[in-house]
Amino acid sequence: MALLPYGVVSRYDLSRDDVARLLAGQPSYRVTQVWDALYQRGDEPEEMTALPKGVRAELASAEEFGAALTPVVESVSDNGSTVKWLWSLADGARVETVLMHYPQRTTVCVSTQAGCAMACGFCATGQAGFERNLSVGEIVEQVVRAGRLARAGGRRLSNVVFMGMGEPLANYDRTWGAVQRLHDDVGLSARHITVSTVGVVPGIRRLAGEALPVNLAVSLHAANDSLRDSLVPLNRRYPLAVLLEACRVYLTAKGRRLSFEWALIDGVNDRPSDADELAELARPLGAHVNLIPLNPTPGFLTRGTPAAGVRAFRDRLVALRVNATVRRNRGAEIDAACGQLAAPSVSATVRPPSRLEDIGTRRV
Ligand code: SAH
Repeated sequence: MALLPYGVVSRYDLSRDDVARLLAGQPSYRVTQVWDALYQRGDEPEEMTALPKGVRAELASAEEFGAALTPVVESVSDNGSTVKWLWSLADGARVETVLMHYPQRTTVCVSTQAGCAMACGFCATGQAGFERNLSVGEIVEQVVRAGRLARAGGRRLSNVVFMGMGEPLANYDRTWGAVQRLHDDVGLSARHITVSTVGVVPGIRRLAGEALPVNLAVSLHAANDSLRDSLVPLNRRYPLAVLLEACRVYLTAKGRRLSFEWALIDGVNDRPSDADELAELARPLGAHVNLIPLNPTPGFLTRGTPAAGVRAFRDRLVALRVNATVRRNRGAEIDAACGQLAAPSVSATVRPPSRLEDIGTRRV
């Protein structure tokens, strides 16, 4: 078998042909049985009961059929409706995944890189720096593992957002490979998949040429170049005019709703003039604005906008005919909230690995 990317071994990096090779000598329908067990149910080899015991045992001991993610900590908050995992990868790199249940949907937020090279100063992942890209399998496995837990609780995983650690469009091929797997094999519709970027323009343009129309979210945070240069270093390479033109190309090609993410930072990007500038950019694109009160991180001292200021900012945007909502702050007490992934956990308590209802963290 060909060497897997980065020497990573994940059963979710295997192609159907790879699985067929592993099952050499078996009837060909076994490939479909294994494939469905992996992508529809997230089965471990021992749980693939459609297979004879001997085949299960062979798969369980095959190195290529290993799992990429080893859970280190599983944290639960919001009365059980938010779960964050810290995973250790084969080479010891660590990434996080967050599962969020809402009344109408269940969303998983996945990482695409260990660390991040974009260096946004207010983001915990950016503060930690870049380690490496994840493989397709390492990304897909996060979704499958979260989907399995959701199902065990009687819920169906409905949405995937590429908003965890890393910059998805700086790891384009593997991110897109994962999108295709989620669509083709897990069975998620493209309109339930959202790719978030800090503004990697060539990546947005490539996305516009892909067949699957996923949702695009752009982490904007500032609507003029001098402020954005200071908050989002990548803006110096792809300034606002270039970024917004790529957004327009995406919209024209895909007809999907575009959203802008805006972490509200006290006294920095929450002034009436910031709302006015943002409205000027968002309105012509029909973009939806997602306001996120800045979550605290160890390396950024300015605080988030207080609640009254958040409401005032939203109201001003709405008065300017911009569709704007405030994102609920999920998982803040377990450092699972936006921009907090990789922040050292200060408040979560360690608990035994049995029940998942309350706030808690367990080492596994
Ligand atoms: N690199 C991609 C994917 C990560 S998404 C991107 O930036 O879009 C993570 C989201 O959380 C982004 O919108 C990011 O700007 C936002 N974010 C980062 N740090 C934050 C913080 N401290 N508080 C609130 N949101 C933050």
